[in-house]
Amino acid sequence: MNTTSPYISIVIPAFNEGLGIKRTIKHVTNVISECQVDWEIIVIDDGSADDTYQQLCDLSQDDAHIKAIKLSRNFGKESAMLAGLEYANGDAIITIDSDLQHPPELMPEMIAKWQTGAQIVHAVKRTRNQESVAKKSAAFLINKIISGLGGINTNNSSDYKLLDKEIVDILVHQLPEKERFFRGLTSWIGFTEAYLYFDVEERLDGESKWSFWSLLELSITALTTFTSLPLRIVSVLGLITLVLGFFVAGDAIWSIFEGRAVSGFATIIISILIIGSFIMISLGIIGEYIAKIYEEVKARPHYLIKSKVGFKK
Ligand code: UDP
Ligand code: MG
Repeated sequence: MNTTSPYISIVIPAFNEGLGIKRTIKHVTNVISECQVDWEIIVIDDGSADDTYQQLCDLSQDDAHIKAIKLSRNFGKESAMLAGLEYANGDAIITIDSDLQHPPELMPEMIAKWQTGAQIVHAVKRTRNQESVAKKSAAFLINKIISGLGGINTNNSSDYKLLDKEIVDILVHQLPEKERFFRGLTSWIGFTEAYLYFDVEERLDGESKWSFWSLLELSITALTTFTSLPLRIVSVLGLITLVLGFFVAGDAIWSIFEGRAVSGFATIIISILIIGSFIMISLGIIGEYIAKIYEEVKARPHYLIKSKVGFKK
């Protein structure tokens, strides 16, 4: 590494991307080698069942810039990206998807922004045309929740970012939480931020790895790791039912003095149903938080590495 040009690490998580990984690496290599920087590409194979890792080994043999880490199983994109951040040596690190939905052409601009002082460069989606309705709604929900309750702006944000090594150090060493939401965390950190806009490209090969359930899971993680407001809502629900209870009890006592029959069966059924569902929902919400606490307390590693290629040590 020479002292004048900066060193850039490009971190790419890949899960069953055998069809397109070579093309992606070639494309990224073409773009980055045009920039006046030293660079490395670190691909994290997130437990692919196809030949992704074998292809990466071949690429690494031909080009020492290319390094790969194979995780022992599929740990999810968040963990895969974290592994990449931990192993990256760059002065700045760029995280980018392996399916070319994030245009590599944006990288020179990101680097320029970083060189003029930005410590976090967010690539923001201008359009999200190709995404399914479920995905768009989940994204909308996640962004609304995080921006509204967590107090940070993640609207239309993506995992395509440039992070200064100081920021990466904070993400890796000072935010040890097990349940991670990269997009939220990078906005939460603060520091000097800059924004670039891009159009989401169509996925060329393979298919999106997100199912409805994995998106729901991500939404719950986003919610529970960024705000405890739902727990407060539970308390408010409790208060509301308490006040209602007083009214119903008052009415019942009053009717005894008035000598009329205790008010009807329907009232009782309705109260039981409403209160019952409040309790069930509340238990569910509390359960979600307890589950997150359980995950944190277990303190298992975010990922396990099966093998590595291209690294010196
Ligand atoms: N990915 C991963 N682990 C997973 C799921 C996805 O490393 O468990 C990677 C995937 O290979 C891709 C990126 O994360 O590089 C984004 O995934 P995908 O394209 O499926 O998501 P989408 O673009 O639909 O949001
Ligand atoms: Mg994609």
